[in-house]
Amino acid sequence: MEQPTKSKKRLATAKELSAIIIEYYRECNQARIEGRPVGWMPPMNGAIEIFYAMGLQPVFPENWSPICAAFGLTPENFRVTEQMGYSQDLCGYLRNINGYVHGLMKQGGGPLGGLPEPDIIISPGAGCIPVMKIFHILEERFPDAKVFRADLPQVAVEDIQEDHLRYAVDEIRRLIDFLAETTGRRLDYDRLEEVVILSDRACELWDEIMAFRKSIPTPFSAAEIGIMFVMVTRQGTRTAVDYLTRVRDEVRERSRAGIGVIENERVRLFWDNIPPWFNMGLLNYFEGAGGVMVAETYSAAWSLRLNVKNPIEALAMKSLMSYPMVSCVSIKKRKEMVLRACRDYHIDGAILHSNKSCHPITLGQMDIKRALENELGIPSLVIDGDHMDERNFSLAQFQTRADAFMEMLLSKK
Ligand code: SF4
Repeated sequence: MEQPTKSKKRLATAKELSAIIIEYYRECNQARIEGRPVGWMPPMNGAIEIFYAMGLQPVFPENWSPICAAFGLTPENFRVTEQMGYSQDLCGYLRNINGYVHGLMKQGGGPLGGLPEPDIIISPGAGCIPVMKIFHILEERFPDAKVFRADLPQVAVEDIQEDHLRYAVDEIRRLIDFLAETTGRRLDYDRLEEVVILSDRACELWDEIMAFRKSIPTPFSAAEIGIMFVMVTRQGTRTAVDYLTRVRDEVRERSRAGIGVIENERVRLFWDNIPPWFNMGLLNYFEGAGGVMVAETYSAAWSLRLNVKNPIEALAMKSLMSYPMVSCVSIKKRKEMVLRACRDYHIDGAILHSNKSCHPITLGQMDIKRALENELGIPSLVIDGDHMDERNFSLAQFQTRADAFMEMLLSKK
């Protein structure tokens, strides 16, 4: 099959995304120029809505990593990190952002104007160990930034109890007080309500878009999953809602017209784990033989409706669930999620990306593999790789194994 390079975008709305990305980073840098406080934070928690409601600028170092991968900057960022003595076995997001803040950023370089320095750092006390360590590194690198040490119970999504929620509510209130004290800005609760309604609407649209992917043929493949940029960086804004509405309309139109990603969809595939940001074309690789990547694990992170009647509690619940939903979920729950997705999206075969850079998501893949085979009769292929570091991936090995897997799936049809 054809050599994969860049991902192929079939949706006109997916092609609009570049402008949204450019505008977001322009806004981040503009905030710094205008003196609007900039806060660096992990993705997928309730802080983004509070930032937008208070007119503060949220920045996501984790999200910067796919941007660096797309611009081919990761080798240089890794080189800087390894020179500082960090192991090549650590999470690629950690190695990339560390290399960037100690290398290119100090030289004033980087694509899209680079990242503005933080005035505030939201340093998480939950999630995976690498994400906590990323923020410890940043605290040292930016000693003038005011640090909020967020604390949350490390609890599996299915075990969340009332007292966990109460604690998370207190943490959200503590964050609001910290931001008010640090920036001199007060939170307008009516504005927060509007932001939470927009955030919930984005989740609703996300669910609608994902539901259309169940159509046969599917109108949307994993290669277009970059649209989640707005869920990471723009939740709680009109930009996210307007953009996702356009994506939903296009996907709905294609689904109704029976327009698939490719003309002759023969095999429906599932991708487990984070995609390879340095070569998103791998997600199109199977198309030459009629295989389409219909669904993936990552998208579940955004399928989280908020109780708009109680914004503070909604954000507390989001902070407990959103990040753990993909990264720190129990193996039992993850297995359930993958099996349900494979059933709902009529999957014929699964690609299990054994991701050297992310142990939390890779752990349990053998259990998932067995369950797919035993409970659903779905074969799967384990691919060794890394979501950030190309050195841990062999294209030739991927092609050989992917070709054989497709041949086997086609022979079963
Ligand atoms: S969840 Fe995985 S990819 Fe994300 S920070 Fe943790 S180890 Fe890295």
